Amino acid sequence: MSESEKFDAIIVGAGPAGAACAYTLAREGKEVLVIERGDTPGSKNVTGGRIYTYALEMLDQGLSEEAALERKVTREQVMLLGGQRAITIDFHDPSFNRDGHPPMSYTVLRAPFDEWLAGKAEEMGAMVACGIRVDGLIEKDGKITGVIAGEDEMYADVVVAADGVNSLLAQKAGLIGEIDFNTVGVGVKEVIELPASTIEERFRLTNPEEGVACMILGCTEGIHGGGFLYTNKESISLGCVFMPGEVARHKKSIQEIFQDLKMHPAVYPLIAGGETVEYSGHLVGEAGYRGIPKQIYREGFVMIGDAAGFVINTGYSVRGMDLAILSGIAAARAIVNASSPAEIGPLYMQELERIQLLPTMRATDGYFDVLQTGWLYDRMPALATAVMADLYSVDAQPPAKLSRGIREQMKAHGISVWDVIKLGFKGVKI
Ligand SMILES: Cc1cc2nc3c(=O)[nH]c(=O)nc-3n(C[C@H](O)[C@H](O)[C@H](O)COP(=O)(O)OP(=O)(O)OC[C@H]3O[C@@H](n4cnc5c(N)ncnc54)[C@H](O)[C@@H]3O)c2cc1C
Repeated sequence: MSESEKFDAIIVGAGPAGAACAYTLAREGKEVLVIERGDTPGSKNVTGGRIYTYALEMLDQGLSEEAALERKVTREQVMLLGGQRAITIDFHDPSFNRDGHPPMSYTVLRAPFDEWLAGKAEEMGAMVACGIRVDGLIEKDGKITGVIAGEDEMYADVVVAADGVNSLLAQKAGLIGEIDFNTVGVGVKEVIELPASTIEERFRLTNPEEGVACMILGCTEGIHGGGFLYTNKESISLGCVFMPGEVARHKKSIQEIFQDLKMHPAVYPLIAGGETVEYSGHLVGEAGYRGIPKQIYREGFVMIGDAAGFVINTGYSVRGMDLAILSGIAAARAIVNASSPAEIGPLYMQELERIQLLPTMRATDGYFDVLQTGWLYDRMPALATAVMADLYSVDAQPPAKLSRGIREQMKAHGISVWDVIKLGFKGVKI
């Protein structure tokens, strides 16, 4: 392809960020090429997962109703595991509909979802080329002017890096360095097939539409991280995220710890008899607002989605796909409204504020400090389950005073009042 036959935009990556950007640009009449290394969009992608529908509705009204989604989340659970014991906090809201809006969130499987969203972008007029890996960027006079894929060179007014966490393109553009393993988690996940009726029975769901999102603490042997479980229509997504540096120093492998989670007495009955049909692993950004690179654009180049570090982990929920879609919309609006390539980057930053992405990330920044608290991952769930065991234990002796029992358990689990106060200080900043 010659420089004179350029596209308005080349988007690298057909995940939710890239597809949302392509959809918006194509709807505005722009000539867009999306390049995806997977054989189909989503074939290489991993998520927990649950997606918040507001982002799809911002992309286009009514889109969430036709999207390839699984079950609407009507039960939010947090599970604390301590040894063989478990506490499950179960928040049930059968509607979760936000007054006339579509249900707030759905469980999702990425292969069908990404293929569907990329298909919507194609319907709008974007060109999606799969099975092609972009290897580098073309630069001229300090501007990015295109991409290199194998022997081919392709040109555009702007290249959008939607290539996910640890973006190769952002590295090539000189906007990020080598990956910092303190800012990412490594996630492993299995999709376990079960009949829909079994899922409904085991999770006390009243109909095939309803589903569960569950975050699990205490399943990582003290390594920063946690588990997740989502009910799909006819499968369960079960996984675990770990800080890679700590895993490397740990005596057990990720697979062994994950296997222990599957065998836990509170988890095994939920997946028993199921068949694992998918096993995957992927990095996920963990640093929230602090994980956003200092600069996320250059002339002729913008970063969106995970490539730009747009992921929030609060401990009770993970948000990446909705932010990926928002950033795709923001980048597309900037590209459409800019009168020259040099204007795109600054306009993109304004759009990220307007669409409430950066304000949302700033507002949730404090969770990062809370989640740095090491004892949350083993001693806290162990303490909580031990206190519950004491509460529910009855014998011929008079029970110990509750406050004394808790103090003794705190001492036994190496958690001081000062530790709790320090965590409280971090908590009030949220
Ligand atoms: C274990 C785990 C659990 C998660 N749970 C949730 C959750 O429950 N809810 C939620 O909202 N988010 C969750 N996330 C985060 C979420 O998955 C991401 O934030 C989201 O996928 C980001 O979308 P994206 O389009 O930016 O990147 P991706 O989805 O990673 O897409 C990037 C695309 O670029 C392609 N690509 C990469 N390099 C190239 C190249 N050189 N050439 C061509 N194509 C390329 C890839 O194949 C891929 O299709 C989770 C992530 C993980 C790992």
